[in-house]
Formats: sequence, C-alpha cells, structure tokens
Amino acid sequence: MQDLNLLAQDNRGQSQLENGSGLVGWDVVTRGSILTSFEGDATEIVNQKSEERMYSNYNSYTASVASWRVEKPVFNIDVCIDCQNCWVWCPDTSILSRDKQMLGIDYDHCKGCAVCAEVCPTNPKSLIMFSEQTALDEALASWPEKKKKEEK
Ligand code: SF4
Ligand code: SF4
Repeated sequence: MQDLNLLAQDNRGQSQLENGSGLVGWDVVTRGSILTSFEGDATEIVNQKSEERMYSNYNSYTASVASWRVEKPVFNIDVCIDCQNCWVWCPDTSILSRDKQMLGIDYDHCKGCAVCAEVCPTNPKSLIMFSEQTALDEALASWPEKKKKEEK
C-alpha cells in the first residue's frame, strides 16, 4: 500500500479532517488508491449498526467533513415512502435509518452534497436542500406542493 503522507501537497482538507493529524485531503489522493473503510475483517459489517462499526481513519464517518456544508438536506417525514434510496446513495453514511425506516440526517457527518435529495423519488421530494442557516421548522413550513402531471 502506498504511503499517503507522501501525497500530501498542502494542508487543504487536512485540518478539516482531523486537525492536521497526517491524513491527506480527498483532493490530493492519487487516483486508483484504495482507502479501506473499516479496520479488520468487514465481512459481517452489514449486520452492525453504524455506531458499532470499526471505521478506519480514511472513512468520512471518522474524518467528518460536515464543516464543508453550505447547504443542508432537510427531511420531511410526511412525504417519505421509506424507499431507502437516500440511504443507499449517501456517500457519508449520513442517512439515519433503522429497520428500513428513514429517521433523518446525521448533520455531524453530512457534507451537503445533495445526492440524497437528487435520488429521492417522491412528489414533492422528501429531502430538499436548504441553506445551512435555514431553521428546520422554517424549511418544513415552506415545503412545495405536489406537482401535477403535465397534460399531453
Ligand atoms: S447531502 Fe445527503 S447524500 Fe450528501 S452527505 Fe448529506 S445526507 Fe449524504
Ligand atoms: S429517498 Fe426519499 S422517499 Fe426514499 S427513504 Fe429517502 S427520504 Fe424517504
């Protein structure tokens, strides 16, 4: 395995990951590198809850990038159909779901990439991006109405 410290060119991202602990930012990792998500054998990892897993230092669960967020996804439980699309696609393990029931967003880890909102299939969407400063109740109060099908 390559020495990742050799790939660090500056401190961009590094301080946001772990206060300059020697980890490199995502933007300076060589293409094709393999960063293991878990320590040790991960064969049974699917049966463990996220807080029980042994995440590696390269996993965004350990090295939070939540400070990068300028927009946040807001979840509206009234519209959600628990399809789990957002949980499958979130790159930062930030969708909170138990027993196939969507519960909300882990804002300590969400980086605001908007993938979850993009893949949400409901009408209106159950996840919508709002500015980081918008209060959750304010966001929910401004939720859009269901869009009608266009007449042909
Ligand atoms: S915006 Fe959505 S997909 Fe992106 S990190 Fe946050 S919860 Fe995950
Ligand atoms: S993708 Fe949308 S509808 Fe599906 S579980 Fe997530 S929030 Fe709910």
